[in-house]
Amino acid sequence: KGERLRLPPWLKTEIPIGKNYNRLKNTLRNLNLHTVCEEARCPNIGECWGGGEYATATATIMLMGDTCTRGCRFCSVKTARKPPPLDPNEPENTAKAIAAWGLDYVVLTSVDRDDLADGGAEHFAKTVSNLKERNPKILVECLTPDFRGDLVAVEKIALSGLDVYAHNVETVRQLQRHVRDPRANFDQSLSVLRHAKSVKPSILTKTSIMLGLGETDAQVHEAMTELRESGVDCLTLGQYMQPTKRHLKVEEYVTPEKFAYWEKVGQEMGFVYTASGPLVRSSYKAGEFFLKNLIE
Ligand code: SF4
Ligand code: SF4
Repeated sequence: KGERLRLPPWLKTEIPIGKNYNRLKNTLRNLNLHTVCEEARCPNIGECWGGGEYATATATIMLMGDTCTRGCRFCSVKTARKPPPLDPNEPENTAKAIAAWGLDYVVLTSVDRDDLADGGAEHFAKTVSNLKERNPKILVECLTPDFRGDLVAVEKIALSGLDVYAHNVETVRQLQRHVRDPRANFDQSLSVLRHAKSVKPSILTKTSIMLGLGETDAQVHEAMTELRESGVDCLTLGQYMQPTKRHLKVEEYVTPEKFAYWEKVGQEMGFVYTASGPLVRSSYKAGEFFLKNLIE
């Protein structure tokens, strides 16, 4: 057992709170939405909810309950083999609540539900189509499970009316077994991203890599190359943070300069969008970027 690394100064900084933050925070209470932003105590909440220059509020909503059928070694979501059944009213109720909440950009994500025949794809897709019916202007990103490589499930979501299809590879190829649940792997995740793009080329595909888990630079470079070759449009890189002592240790606190270097590499490789920084999370200020760059 090695010693735990000390938190570097760049992870202790306060993030500014944007102007929409209080409004969203106050109206959330009555809506019965579960945001990852609050539940994971995401450090970016002030900025994402507040919106920046473009006053674009982004939030991440969790669907299909709080219990996952998988147990990734970096993740603090609770695990069970058979989580409670889905709430059949969730797609409609969630869509209604999000539409009423006043977001510009929403990320819908979920736990993995390997206990369900379609992994919850239909449920996910229904939420999107219902939301888009109520508010055609809202931009929707889905951050989905890998559905054990079930491409019919992927397709259902890709064609649901979303704008961005996200699925995270989480780490480099060489650390997949060490970091993710054994049912996940790099190639399966690549095939999810490739398939989403191939059934609807106008959507953007997006993935995330955590750094600080012991990966080498060469491995990061290789992962980025493979992602680009698979047609992935957007990439985020952020620092892995250990959620509790029972989870994987942080092997390294990657410096802000190094994150900036990867951002440059990503741009040079031709990703439409690369966000890389110690506090960057997969949904970090997503709305800000998409409104600014793609919608104008
Ligand atoms: Fe929410 Fe994601 Fe922003 Fe964190 S980075 S506040 S989880 S939208
Ligand atoms: Fe956490 Fe997702 Fe892994 Fe489930 S599949 S344990 S929610 S990272």
